[in-house]
Amino acid sequence: MSFLEYAPAPESRSILRLRDSYGLFIDGDFVEGTGESFATISPADESHIATISAASEADVDRAVTAARRAYDRSWSRMSGRDRGKYLFRIARLVQERARELAVAESLDNGKPIKESRDVDVPLVAAWFFYYAGWADKLDYAGLGAAPRALGVAGQVIPWNFPLLMLAWKIAPALAAGNTVVLKPAETTPLSALIFAEILQQADLPPGVVNIVTGAGPTGAALVSHPGIDKVAFTGSTGVGRAIAKEVAGSGKKLTLELGGKAANIVFDDAPIDQAIEGIVNGIFFNQGHVCCAGSRLLVQENIHDEVVDRLKERLSTLRLGDPLDKNSDIGAINSRAQLDRIRALSKIGEEEGAERWSADCVIPENGFWFAPTIFTNVQASHRIARDEIFGPVLSVLTFRTPAEAIAKANNTPYGLSAGIWSDKGSRILAVADKLRAGVVWANTFNRFDPASPFGGYKESGYGREGGRHGLAAYLASAASAPALSARTPRASRKAVAK
Ligand code: NAD
Repeated sequence: MSFLEYAPAPESRSILRLRDSYGLFIDGDFVEGTGESFATISPADESHIATISAASEADVDRAVTAARRAYDRSWSRMSGRDRGKYLFRIARLVQERARELAVAESLDNGKPIKESRDVDVPLVAAWFFYYAGWADKLDYAGLGAAPRALGVAGQVIPWNFPLLMLAWKIAPALAAGNTVVLKPAETTPLSALIFAEILQQADLPPGVVNIVTGAGPTGAALVSHPGIDKVAFTGSTGVGRAIAKEVAGSGKKLTLELGGKAANIVFDDAPIDQAIEGIVNGIFFNQGHVCCAGSRLLVQENIHDEVVDRLKERLSTLRLGDPLDKNSDIGAINSRAQLDRIRALSKIGEEEGAERWSADCVIPENGFWFAPTIFTNVQASHRIARDEIFGPVLSVLTFRTPAEAIAKANNTPYGLSAGIWSDKGSRILAVADKLRAGVVWANTFNRFDPASPFGGYKESGYGREGGRHGLAAYLASAASAPALSARTPRASRKAVAK
């Protein structure tokens, strides 16, 4: 066998101790749901992983009741210091079971194991460590007079970062003293259910976190439940809009993290090698299933051809294949529905006159796959420049002047993130200041840190997750984010200046 044919053994599914079927996690135990059950499958080969319960309205009610009881009897009476101990314990258990969680995530979601192993799971632990550190400091850390938890939080999350989105939601909620009912996405319930086992291992008091699996109707039952004090949603703008209407006038607090169509702006003085890697990471990381993905490349006209040629060259070296193989760079698309959406929008791109190039990958026979694709000759009015594709598809537009770049970048109903590539610090700061995006990266992309607030403008939602702002969203006495110190970086100040 030649070196080129050598393929190391994929990470083994056998490290998972999966059950054949999973109930709902309510009041500290896995219990039978009263609704239908459904299968969760591997998007890489459509094989069956496990049978999952779909929580009915009655099940959701049971979970909310358990969360309320836990809030009244244990969690709200506990000192911040003791809450922090539980969060530290959870963080350490996530680290201990990191390999297993990474395999579960890649199996259920389709993302390459090197991403779940090196990015998702370490960030999950980091989020719990970070908020564990806040739990005993709330009384004196300037988050408002006598901060008080809200009560029971109903949290609904998407499938693109199943465990990381769970951590973004649960860690600040618990640190602030709330109890939780969380609904994972229907195509990726697995890691949340393994996480429920971790909560049992951590001896978290029963009912403090409840996990109800199911699809849209389960989520709708949760957000409309009268026993919920706070709704936190991450997902599509359409569902976010429906939830905002549902919650209006109910007195529930609401944060929404929705879609995006980020501009990644490359000036002709940018460090090109670095920019090529950043553009690739910006849109092809996690198959482009990233709300803040750099899906619109705005490149200065005089370097357009060079950048596009080098991107094609780089993409030709990426390996698409088995998410559990540590040499895979591009994994599977999470579901057939998402694959259909990516195909449909790409077809519209061609019909509207953009020029399509796709990497020459061998597409596996089974499962859901889409080769990394670049569209050039894209006009701002094209659907592929406006709609969130949420897949491995990059739309390339050009600009001549910084003013044109800013105008094009802001020409979107979204405003979650943006990237700027330039050698000049002054240019980066001047452009960042005019971008209507919650997060602006400079000479990098897709960087996340638990201390850094994340969230959008316009149709990308409202409220911030991460940092002390993420904590404030779960506290009654801090309706809005606290004033930041003068040392806060400019991008973070923009993030709260909406
Ligand atoms: P989605 O809105 O269809 O589903 C998200 C979650 O909401 C799922 O758990 C789903 O079951 C649930 N849901 C569906 N209908 C519901 C209803 N009527 N009431 C309550 N819950 C309901 O979105 P998706 O396809 O799972 O995720 C992709 C979208 O999420 C993209 O648009 C992406 O940009 C966005 N997203 C945003 C962020 C962010 O932080 N801003 C992060 C990840 C994903």
